[in-house]
Amino acid sequence: MITLSQSDYEAIRAMIDQKALIAISPAHLPTNGFIKVVCPDGDTTPEMINHFHFDVCPKANGGFVCTHLAPVTGGPGAIPETSPMHALTYKGKVWGNAHDQVCTYIEAALSVKGGRITNVALVPHAPCGMATVKKLSVWENFELSFLAKEMIRKEFPRTFESVKVMPHINFAGYPEANNPKGPFRTYLLRREPFERMLASQRKPERIARSA
Ligand SMILES: [Zn+2]
Repeated sequence: MITLSQSDYEAIRAMIDQKALIAISPAHLPTNGFIKVVCPDGDTTPEMINHFHFDVCPKANGGFVCTHLAPVTGGPGAIPETSPMHALTYKGKVWGNAHDQVCTYIEAALSVKGGRITNVALVPHAPCGMATVKKLSVWENFELSFLAKEMIRKEFPRTFESVKVMPHINFAGYPEANNPKGPFRTYLLRREPFERMLASQRKPERIARSA
């Protein structure tokens, strides 16, 4: 299992300190069902699903909610066309893309579950094997996840009550993992503080480029 890079760990710590990432609580979750866009990573995704299904959702709703998965390798950050994880390939040939794959799952879920699904959770995770292969930082992966949120809102207008970005982090190898809860945490990513931090991250690059 891969571990968080030092730079991604420091980025996540900073996002927690600045309250861009806040611990998920039942109050953040819908009282109706939701579609969860996830990376199908076998080392972490089952834990995330169980955490939602058996711990957080019952507290939010007094019972289980319908949780419909829309898996795509790399997670929601693969959805935008600009993402290096966007193309779906088999035997070296592109046969589709992450946007169409996720939208196919969403359309099917809406048709078979009727009015039971009214929310979307976009779950980028870190460390992610595909994001690592494509050299995407958590900053980039989370920014792509917000772009994905806009695309889903546009693709399915007036369909969802909420579309939230909820990163799932595996802290294995770092102090946060020395905890009875284990190494995994799920957060809500808040757009305004995240984008403020992202802009200040990029400032030195812009200065460097214009020099
Ligand atoms: Zn992944």
